[in-house]
Amino acid sequence: MLLMVILFFHWHSNFLKKNSSSIFEDNSENYYEIKRIEREKMGNFRKSKTQIYKTDRSTITAVLNEFKELHLSEYEFYIKIGKYLLMTEQLFSLGFPEESLSGVCILNSHFPFSRSVPNFNKNKKARIRFEDCPDDILKMRVFEQTCARCGTEFYLTSAGYLTHERCYYHYGKLKYQWRDGNQDSVFTCCGRPFNSKGCSVGQLHVWSGLERGLNDNLEGFVRTQPRTNLWVSPGIYALDCEMCYTIKGMELCKVTVVDMEGRRLYNSFVKPEYYVIDYNTRFSGVTERDVAIFGKTLSQVQQELLTFIHEDTILVGHSLNNDSRALKIVHKNFIDIALVFPHERGYPYRYSLKQLTLRCLKKEIQSSDYGHNSFEDAVSCIELLLWKIVQDIREEEQ
Ligand SMILES: [Zn+2]
Ligand SMILES: [Zn+2]
Repeated sequence: MLLMVILFFHWHSNFLKKNSSSIFEDNSENYYEIKRIEREKMGNFRKSKTQIYKTDRSTITAVLNEFKELHLSEYEFYIKIGKYLLMTEQLFSLGFPEESLSGVCILNSHFPFSRSVPNFNKNKKARIRFEDCPDDILKMRVFEQTCARCGTEFYLTSAGYLTHERCYYHYGKLKYQWRDGNQDSVFTCCGRPFNSKGCSVGQLHVWSGLERGLNDNLEGFVRTQPRTNLWVSPGIYALDCEMCYTIKGMELCKVTVVDMEGRRLYNSFVKPEYYVIDYNTRFSGVTERDVAIFGKTLSQVQQELLTFIHEDTILVGHSLNNDSRALKIVHKNFIDIALVFPHERGYPYRYSLKQLTLRCLKKEIQSSDYGHNSFEDAVSCIELLLWKIVQDIREEEQ
């Protein structure tokens, strides 16, 4: 069953145009003039605490150099990557937010928000201590959710949690191994077996996904807008978001955008709307302090992003459906790296970004103890796309 929610779109009239990647030569007379004006306009943003538009060049060298040697024009490049753009018909089924003909936002509620976790506490149900619940809560509808970390079923209402118990979970993945002729499975975090008590503890169980009556109040979605200046190219950017667990499921806590040369265009922490249970720092790399000091509201971040991400901008990323839902941005032009390199077992299986960069780029990412680095992840998406284009052209030449 599909979930339909009426939304009010916020319109942004005051656009700041951002020049896109400079991999390509652009000989139009106005180009440099436009660039100069844009730089002046961007001055305001530079003063921001979160270092927006800081041009921080990464180590995207080998693939970029190989790509540059192809001497593709911008037009040729767009043709080459065109086949990897998701088709409009695919977007909804893949879980991207969509806009219906009548202008409402529709979301496929069957599409899960985040990674799946070994459900090792399956069938374990938490208790509700009804004697502790105020009368008004007892009158509310009780929802049952499965903890995204430990698999325990727990209870909540739209007003908050009914189950107040600690969550013992394994943050690692299950690894299957053969021992003495038998196959068994252990967690990569601690080496303990499948049925063991979790090696990490959280203050509450957590959940992800979309649940009608709990977090389907989808106000605050915005739509990318047409470019007001057609002299500048629409831009191809990679996007990476980090999410945290709140009492209302998962929410955005950081967003990073890089350009085709691996330069950081935008980087901001985002204040979640609801009470945060866990910043998921081990994976997100985001801490409570980061968000408290540097966090902006989602609405601020959307407005800033829409100044350079336009209707025809191409956004590249890994599992971008999660990012576009968390950012609450309705957009059409996506290249999802997870689908550029389809899994051998077919969809919905996906290779992780870590697996892809290791296999194609021979590069190890996400190996830090301090969580993912959204900048590194976004740059890897650009590198993988360029790598793929180089491979495609080589195959065509053979
Ligand atoms: Zn463990
Ligand atoms: Zn749990």
